[in-house]
Amino acid sequence: MTSARSAIFADEHEAFRDTVRRFIAKEVTPSVEAWEEAGEFPSELFKRFAALDLLGLKYPESLGGTDAGKLYEAVLFEELGRCGSGGVFAGIGAHVAIATPPVFNFGSEAQRRRWLQPAISGDLVMALAITEPSGGSDIAQVESSARRDGDHYVVNGSKTFITNGVRAGAVVALVRTKPEGGHHGLSILVIEKETPGYSVSRKLNKLGWRASDTAELTFQDCRVPVENRLGPEHEGFYQALANFEWERIWIAVGAVASAQRSLELAIDYAANRVQFGKRLAEMPVIRHKIAQMLLRIEQARHLTYHALWLHVNRQPCTKEVAMAKIAATEADVAVADEALQIHGGYGYMMEYPVQRAWRDARLGPIGAGTNEIMRDVIARELDL
Ligand SMILES: Cc1cc2nc3c(=O)[nH]c(=O)nc-3n(C[C@H](O)[C@H](O)[C@H](O)COP(=O)(O)OP(=O)(O)OC[C@H]3O[C@@H](n4cnc5c(N)ncnc54)[C@H](O)[C@@H]3O)c2cc1C
Repeated sequence: MTSARSAIFADEHEAFRDTVRRFIAKEVTPSVEAWEEAGEFPSELFKRFAALDLLGLKYPESLGGTDAGKLYEAVLFEELGRCGSGGVFAGIGAHVAIATPPVFNFGSEAQRRRWLQPAISGDLVMALAITEPSGGSDIAQVESSARRDGDHYVVNGSKTFITNGVRAGAVVALVRTKPEGGHHGLSILVIEKETPGYSVSRKLNKLGWRASDTAELTFQDCRVPVENRLGPEHEGFYQALANFEWERIWIAVGAVASAQRSLELAIDYAANRVQFGKRLAEMPVIRHKIAQMLLRIEQARHLTYHALWLHVNRQPCTKEVAMAKIAATEADVAVADEALQIHGGYGYMMEYPVQRAWRDARLGPIGAGTNEIMRDVIARELDL
């Protein structure tokens, strides 16, 4: 089942989509079960994505990217969103959509060459570390401290729920460089794994996104060279904010694609399961459920494409992105739930992909700014 093609994508984007879809069908989907069970996908997968130039779609050729642009990256997220593993979507997406952008946006040429270039070639896995055990929504309250000592910062504190955190060779970390000043006292440091005092304290188990690694990180008198700071000191809060729109679009685009896949699973199942002498697909209640699922997905898709269009055309879109993120992630949860219901008892069984779609979807309303925070963002934009 295919949905109507959106005017936002040109023929070149659709040709690119075919390539990505074939690649994922060959190199990702067949291994999803094994990776879910293992709790991680192999790090070599980054190199496989890099071999197809998929890790640097929005970055310049001088750094190994293709300069194709964000619409191509959105196509990549759509295809990853329907790959059958939220964990693969998360791991590749965290690297591409949230960890590398601050290096590109605020790094010097030397910093871009040091971290972004190997990230684009798949030789360096990166993670973004903002959330702390004390909180994720109120990022102005980040507590991990970075005290200046000559040409180093001495970092102490911890980060949690960090996607790619176990395997990351470098984390882009938001830390407090001034005890006072709330959001005016934060900076972004790139902290490399070998730095003494840096450790992965725990690999975390999760409800969904199981094929991605999620870590708790500890910094104990971790000496990070001042030259690892991105941009000016104490600007970290604004630097982190700068990529929030793209992070939310990544999540929204993936959620719509994932909901579409759940719908397809439900339709396939309803087409074959017979009860009371009829296929489920012939029963009015099931048909109405499926129609409602499709309606929900298309509403979310339109809001998401609208936000994507505004963003790539550099129009103000904070509110529209927040609405897309809410609509898409809540549609994903609702559609996965209904798809599971249509599968009956089989939907609850681990061998059925719909249960994984249901577990994976639940992260959407929590990650990338919770949907409560998104509603707050919308209300603030209304200047009530
Ligand atoms: C699988 C996974 C992967 C993640 N990956 C990363 C990553 O790579 N990097 C990273 O930095 N973080 C990551 N996160 C963290 C994620 O961004 C946070 O979980 C999220 O921001 C929410 O923060 P919190 O969990 O501390 O919840 P809290 O901020 O404690 O919120 C708890 C609840 O209170 C609500 N709430 C809080 N404040 C308000 C308010 N003002 N008004 C109304 N309701 C409010 C929230 O919406 C939520 O429902 C990840 C999380 C998960 C689960």
